[in-house]
Amino acid sequence: MFVLGHAGIGSQLISRKYPYWIVIAGAIFPDLLDKPIFYIRYFMHGENLTALGLISGTRTFGHICWIWILLYFIFHHYKNIKVQAFCLGAITHVGLDLLAAALFGHDFLLQFSGMMFPFLGFQFPPYPFLGMKDHLNSVRSVHIWVGEVIGAILLYRGYRLGRWGKKPFFWTGMGL
Ligand SMILES: [Zn+2]
Repeated sequence: MFVLGHAGIGSQLISRKYPYWIVIAGAIFPDLLDKPIFYIRYFMHGENLTALGLISGTRTFGHICWIWILLYFIFHHYKNIKVQAFCLGAITHVGLDLLAAALFGHDFLLQFSGMMFPFLGFQFPPYPFLGMKDHLNSVRSVHIWVGEVIGAILLYRGYRLGRWGKKPFFWTGMGL
């Protein structure tokens, strides 16, 4: 699932009492964290994926089960509604990725065991593509576009319902 799918569908799963922008920021955060880490290493090592070692895919620190536990702890510890909104958004991300992997993914069991790091093996989920070209080709998959279109419609609906508010959260400050 890509950015619009996560933002639109993830934010729809969270109560309206939480600030919309911050839920959306949380919903895309795991990818914003993990994808650059992987691709920086990928470009350093070329297509030799085995040379990447532990950082073996685009789902690493932001996608493992520990992040759920950590987010759950933060959610309960901090009563700040903005912090809670961010945690809830991020939890939807990991859940939706897992669901998408179960429904359409390559090697779901490998992805799942990687997300359970380190309980089912000391390895993050492996990059399920043969290389950058193969990854870009996956963008053509119907289920990705369905997710993006549904996400875009839900974001537009949020806008029509006034959930975007007058100012994005980063103008008003997250108040952390
Ligand atoms: Zn993800």
